[in-house]
Amino acid sequence: MARKVKDKAIGIDLGTTYSCVGVWQHDRIEIIANDQGNRTTPSMVAFTPDERLVGEAANFQISTNPTHTVYDVKRLIGRRYNDPLVQSDKQLWPFTIIPGKNEKPMIEVTYKGEKKPFAAEEISSMVLVKMKMIAEQYLQCGVKKAVITVPAYFNDSQKRATKDAGKIAGLDVMRIINEPTAAAITYGFDALEEGTRNILVFDLGGGTFDVSIVTVERGKVEVKAVGGDMHLGGGDFDNRVLNYCVQLFNKKYKVDMGRNPKVLRRLRSECERAKRSLSSAVETVIDIDSLYEGQDFHTKIRRAKFEELNADLFDKCMQLVKQCLQDSKLSKHQINDIVLVGGSSRIPKVQELLSQFFEGKELCKSVNPDEAVAYGAALQAAVLNKEIIHLVLMDVTPLSLGVAVSNGVMSVVVPRNTPIPTLKEKYFTTKYDNQTSVNISIYEGERALVAHNNLLGEFVLHGIPPARCGVPNIRECFLVDVEGILTVSAQDVGTGRINRITVTNERERLSKVEIDRMVADAKIFRKEDEEMAKKHLAKNTLECYICNMKSRLMEAKSRGTIQTRVADDISGALNMVEEWLDENDNATIEKFEAKLNELSLKCKCLT
Ligand code: ADP
Ligand code: MG
Repeated sequence: MARKVKDKAIGIDLGTTYSCVGVWQHDRIEIIANDQGNRTTPSMVAFTPDERLVGEAANFQISTNPTHTVYDVKRLIGRRYNDPLVQSDKQLWPFTIIPGKNEKPMIEVTYKGEKKPFAAEEISSMVLVKMKMIAEQYLQCGVKKAVITVPAYFNDSQKRATKDAGKIAGLDVMRIINEPTAAAITYGFDALEEGTRNILVFDLGGGTFDVSIVTVERGKVEVKAVGGDMHLGGGDFDNRVLNYCVQLFNKKYKVDMGRNPKVLRRLRSECERAKRSLSSAVETVIDIDSLYEGQDFHTKIRRAKFEELNADLFDKCMQLVKQCLQDSKLSKHQINDIVLVGGSSRIPKVQELLSQFFEGKELCKSVNPDEAVAYGAALQAAVLNKEIIHLVLMDVTPLSLGVAVSNGVMSVVVPRNTPIPTLKEKYFTTKYDNQTSVNISIYEGERALVAHNNLLGEFVLHGIPPARCGVPNIRECFLVDVEGILTVSAQDVGTGRINRITVTNERERLSKVEIDRMVADAKIFRKEDEEMAKKHLAKNTLECYICNMKSRLMEAKSRGTIQTRVADDISGALNMVEEWLDENDNATIEKFEAKLNELSLKCKCLT
């Protein structure tokens, strides 16, 4: 019977190809092995006529059930069906992807004799349930609380979908954290250190290569640059070995087994095993009975051969490291630590090249690379669950967040580099008399005009009681949660009426390169931008003034407190400036100010 010891919190690395789970236990992090004794579990779900299999069990039967064994769903999560990445991945998968509601990609499988579409969240939730069960079995108690990791480049929509997968799995997702951040936590780079520490996280996994540079400063971590390749990883190394073996076999037996998927799958899985052993041994054998047309396959393969077969791919990793360094604007000497993450970073040649690139620097690999992310996630989970007291790393907002105000000026609500979570508010008002709704457009970026920044979302607050422009008091609240997900609300303070949106940036999230470009542009254009903003302000002040005076004039006329002649004179002047404004949209600040002065002399009797 399950013993309810304590409400334990686990850390889960939900990987593209493999997942891993850890927990704080006996004063240390323990990575938990699955029922097969493996410390990582395939992120795979299979559907058969009578059951659903997850993890190792799904992997075992993949060659006999390829079209209903689903993997790689992390590539789909939080994306739209027509996302170019989804479209290209679709071609490579043996399972079927169809467009669902709201362009959501759905995985269509036959399960228990019926066609059934599943969302990526659902498949991921099945993997999460498996990881939860692995932990429960080991801990001998129920587990609910978890920290789940996602790649640093995941946008809000992908993070939310991952969180949803956790919820579907019955987990209480305490926090979603970035994979490189988790790796930094693993190596304890969050201690109260003096100065800044720059860490390069090299994550070479099963199908993806992610390189990130994170900076830790007084317990705050900022992902400075991310790079890599969505299609470079262990699977490619397996393929190189596979092709080599196919050629050997075909030549030896004068056959062509090239197009038989079942045979290839069998051979590939042996190649993967051989690849893994070549990380510790310098030579291994591939031995398969009756592989094709009754012929056995037997060959020795040396580490040097494996390295030769993959030389260009390993080189590509190094190029991408270089690129990421360039993007971060750091030199290799400014990198304090290099952290190895991902099963494929166990490959000795990869480690050698990386260390060479950093001029012989030691690499951080004391924690198994394919467990380092789960390790950090488990540490973070234990901290949040108050099982240990530990300094928590904070993320920061990479760009300023704000709204468009009159004439397209960006009004910043959350400045760049604000530690998250954060809640910031600012008050706004209407622009016209009797305006009953306001449009709220949310942007990120450093430029003074929203036209140069990145639009994140828009919504309307309706139901503002008619009043003079400038009278309604509208509170805009920006909440950036610990996962970097932004919710903006606008409330009419008078009526309490409120509307809000959670920003799910549908487009690709800005990359670090784009962010840097935007920040750099903002510096270059600062003077110009400030001028522009001042001009817009001057113009806006004039417009508001006209609007204000018109309504005062009406009031004065209806109360009979103004002579008709004076009223006509003022009205004429207001109209004239209004017409002038229409034609002189781009006049100088001085011109706008002069017009304002001119009018304020005329309108003295109204104020
Ligand atoms: P993910 O990419 O899902 O995060 P991992 O980080 O666990 O997954 O990486 C899985 C990849 O690591 C697989 O391609 C696997 O073959 C490879 N791998 C695991 N162990 C080794 C090893 N000892 N040597 C080389 N490659 C390995
Ligand atoms: Mg991974």
